[in-house]
Amino acid sequence: MRTPAGSECKFFYGDYFRGRHHEECRLLKASIPPQTWAPSLCATCPVPRILQANSCEYMRLTGRVVRPLISAFQRRVQVMAYCEKSNQVVNQPEVGCGQCHPLPPIFEVRE
Ligand code: SF4
Repeated sequence: MRTPAGSECKFFYGDYFRGRHHEECRLLKASIPPQTWAPSLCATCPVPRILQANSCEYMRLTGRVVRPLISAFQRRVQVMAYCEKSNQVVNQPEVGCGQCHPLPPIFEVRE
């Protein structure tokens, strides 16, 4: 579904049927403890970009709302990724852990 910021995100849910206006982020809602979502979070959230770059079925995303030091007044979504196949934290969710989709040899750096 399209977020209030205009990007596609599978975690966004909006119910506008018959005059309803219910919106939620199911990524933040599923967090432990559940995080409070606001439409403004979607504007800076990295999740739509991650989902566009990497659709690996084994990667699980979790998110929480933080206030980074550089913008203490603006809340942002911080995303953590975990691969259920390789059982490891994925440091670059846009790229993945590299087990299922290794880069072709042309991209390998030879010494
Ligand atoms: S906050 Fe991020 S994960 Fe949640 S609906 Fe918005 S874009 Fe998607």
